[in-house]
Amino acid sequence: MSKPPLHPQLQTEGQPQTPGTVYLVGAGPGAADLLTLRALKLLAQADVVFHDALIDPAILDYAPRAQRIAVGKRCGRHSTAQRFINKQLIAAAARYPVVVRLKGGDPMLFGRAQEEIAALDAAGVPYAVVPGITAALAASAELGVSLTQRGVARNVVLTTPRVGVDEPAGEWAAGIDAGNTVVVYMGMGKAPEVVEQLLARGVTGHTPVVVIENATLPTCRETWCTVASLVAVAQQALTGPALIIIGRVLEQARTQAAELDQAHGLGVLSSRVGTTRLAPIRKTR
Ligand code: SAH
Repeated sequence: MSKPPLHPQLQTEGQPQTPGTVYLVGAGPGAADLLTLRALKLLAQADVVFHDALIDPAILDYAPRAQRIAVGKRCGRHSTAQRFINKQLIAAAARYPVVVRLKGGDPMLFGRAQEEIAALDAAGVPYAVVPGITAALAASAELGVSLTQRGVARNVVLTTPRVGVDEPAGEWAAGIDAGNTVVVYMGMGKAPEVVEQLLARGVTGHTPVVVIENATLPTCRETWCTVASLVAVAQQALTGPALIIIGRVLEQARTQAAELDQAHGLGVLSSRVGTTRLAPIRKTR
């Protein structure tokens, strides 16, 4: 099999050709100090980092030796096709010992990791996965709300209304149930469909909802509403990646948010900006 060509940005002159390993590394939800130690160590050793476009530059600074290549949806005008990324990973591993594929949150959740693993396997390239903190868990910490509060919810559904070309629409919502906590990734553009599915599966219109943007970052924003008002809320401009969380576990926190709003004279749809509760840890370097 002939080797695929290298990404045009990848400099190879004078580089030793050592077959390497591809590490699919979770970058966490945003804040640089929520990386795992394993991720940090790999970034320090990385020869090449292929990263999602949303990754904070502060995280990339932990990879001082690496060539950095932005791939993924928000890079440029259109998505770098998945097959192209797969080829680049294989080509880079043929030449560099430590190739890092850095993905937001956890690489195995809504991150197309399986396609990359399958391609690496097929090409005989060794790989390893390093987990990261997924957005749902970051949001839970940010809100101070346990997604599995005792006596209220035992199950958490992580889902997205984004379906692939050959997947049946609607099936994404099969796990939704009034007794579960539901966390919707990439759902803001499809709020009417999300609400329709929630109602169809027995979740009432007055169930509390929070939309949380940029969880763990100083630009974090929480907007509290209900299933009935979610579509209106989704029409507001987003400031960054956002999750929709639905469920009774939010009840207590919603009351607190409403009291805070009253104290500040805000409207019914409460919105808190820049309220990250996760104290950033100062960089020591
Ligand atoms: N692998 C990632 C998810 C990738 S899908 C993970 O485990 O978190 C991208 C979606 O994740 C975004 O559209 C948004 O719904 C969610 N997301 C990622 N980072 C977020 C953040 N800091 N705050 C809120 N939502 C976030």
